[in-house]
Amino acid sequence: MRSRLTVLSGPSGVGKGTVVAAVRRLYPHVWVSVSCTTRAPRPGETDGVEYRFLDRAEFAAMIESNELLEHAAFAGNLYGTPSAPVYQRLEIGVPTLLEIELQGARQVRASMPQAQLVFLAPPSWEELERRLAGRGSESAEVIAARLAIAQGEMDARNDFDAVIVNDDVERAAQELVRLIERVCHTG
Ligand code: 5GP
Repeated sequence: MRSRLTVLSGPSGVGKGTVVAAVRRLYPHVWVSVSCTTRAPRPGETDGVEYRFLDRAEFAAMIESNELLEHAAFAGNLYGTPSAPVYQRLEIGVPTLLEIELQGARQVRASMPQAQLVFLAPPSWEELERRLAGRGSESAEVIAARLAIAQGEMDARNDFDAVIVNDDVERAAQELVRLIERVCHTG
């Protein structure tokens, strides 16, 4: 394998998606994996861009045929990373990034110990609560479930290779890309 994978994880609502959107915009040479999910598209999301939106049977078939690098249930839906596109990019040395929740990050750690795991932390717990409540597209039950998970996820930061505090989206994106490039050509 020519380059090492970088995985960005952290609590839901910490702004992983926003930081990754900034990476896509400002650093288009970084390839960002497109996950599969059984969750319904949010307004503005396009199949094949933010996610590949699958039904449960299609998702189960991908697990069955061993097509996923990792997969996890999160807040009632399934999420997973198709492995072939990731391996293809790593093989030719393309800087490669996954944005996934913590259970998936642990699976990548186990199956690909050389991967670089980066934890995105909120500036404070209060800020994370505000962001989770303020997204506006989910029910109170979904927000409460996500907060409970996020509390446990904050404790996981010590298991990561690096921590980035998301106090400024573009600065965080820049720091992430620096970390990606540092491991990209070191095999
Ligand atoms: P959302 O539904 O808000 O887009 O994502 C919910 C959570 O699922 C986020 O923490 C996001 O990082 C995570 N996620 C997205 N894609 C994947 C994936 O392929 N695998 C795993 N394990 N988590 C994912």
